[in-house]
Amino acid sequence: EKTILLKNRPKGKPSISDFEFVTEDPDLKISEGEILLETTYVSVDPYLRGRMSDAKSYVPPFELNKPIQSGVVAKVIESKNENFAVGDFVSGMLSWKTKQKSTGEGLLKVDASKAPLSAYLGILGMTGLTAYLGLNEIGKPVAGETLVVSGAAGAVGSVVGQIGKILGLTVIGIAGTDEKIEMLKSKFGFDAGINYNTSKDIKADIAKAAPHGVDIYFDNVGGPISDAVLFNINRFARIIVCGAISVYNNTELPKSISVQPFLVKNSALMQGFIVSNYAEKFPEAMKHLSTWLAEGKLTYSETIVTGFDQIPNAFIDLFDGKNKGKMIVKI
Ligand code: NDP
Repeated sequence: EKTILLKNRPKGKPSISDFEFVTEDPDLKISEGEILLETTYVSVDPYLRGRMSDAKSYVPPFELNKPIQSGVVAKVIESKNENFAVGDFVSGMLSWKTKQKSTGEGLLKVDASKAPLSAYLGILGMTGLTAYLGLNEIGKPVAGETLVVSGAAGAVGSVVGQIGKILGLTVIGIAGTDEKIEMLKSKFGFDAGINYNTSKDIKADIAKAAPHGVDIYFDNVGGPISDAVLFNINRFARIIVCGAISVYNNTELPKSISVQPFLVKNSALMQGFIVSNYAEKFPEAMKHLSTWLAEGKLTYSETIVTGFDQIPNAFIDLFDGKNKGKMIVKI
């Protein structure tokens, strides 16, 4: 059996040498109340970068030389727990291991007949919840308003934009390639897209795409892209600070503009959040997401990489934008 450990705390962009693969013959004999799981799909997510450093955050850092954990879908292959039967699939925070024991605590059963299993790591998992709850709880969208989404072709961003369209907003996405911009418009129904890598003036391009200004900004990336959006916000704009991938690998403090004047002069709201803040709203959010998905109002993209050994590479590739939609590793 194989396990992936955190070997070093990455400096700057993570590299493959920060991870250690170990082949072991672990004790997989389960006791009363336990289940044995075989990993099926592994989610790799930008936030894992934060847990790889030892800075204080909302979740404790990963320990060195211990397995990394993320969202996983796994199959129950043995069970001494009455709540789980052999053949059930579960999702939850699990270790980067091919097989592992569990008490079942914190695991949710997922139904392969209702949606492809990988979707429970994306649109029907943390990704979908983050998009729905961030946009609605902080963005408080009103039909007719203009929404800008950064990281728009990624897992969260592509769902945010589609929900924006369902709610009657004008939606503008910012992403890193022309192919992604094309996908935003043709597959996800965005009204306009801006390629931040080729734009000569992101601030001006946003102004052009949003002639009435920006009422809601769903920020997944931070840095200069977000600075450019600030120049275009309207009075009473809401800025949802979901993530800041453009600075996660920084080794020095970034040079950024001061946001305060923009917030003051526009009476704007800027709020960070962690999806788990809204745990009591998960059932409501999940109901909307699954209904919209079933009705065909929502769709999703996945970049699926195959092979347990590919997990670290897939994670590193997030920082080069190699994914369209949710990055997932199939074991
Ligand atoms: P994505 O699927 O969006 O993957 C990351 C994407 O970020 C890449 O595809 C890439 O697309 C883009 N990117 C990478 N580097 C940069 C850069 N320097 N500048 C601009 N864009 C960059 O990941 P997720 O949807 O899983 O997560 C999106 C954001 O949401 C992250 O910041 C994450 O930390 C955050 N998050 C927050 C949660 C919360 O509870 N607050 C929960 C879940 C996610 P491109 O080609 O366009 O550059």
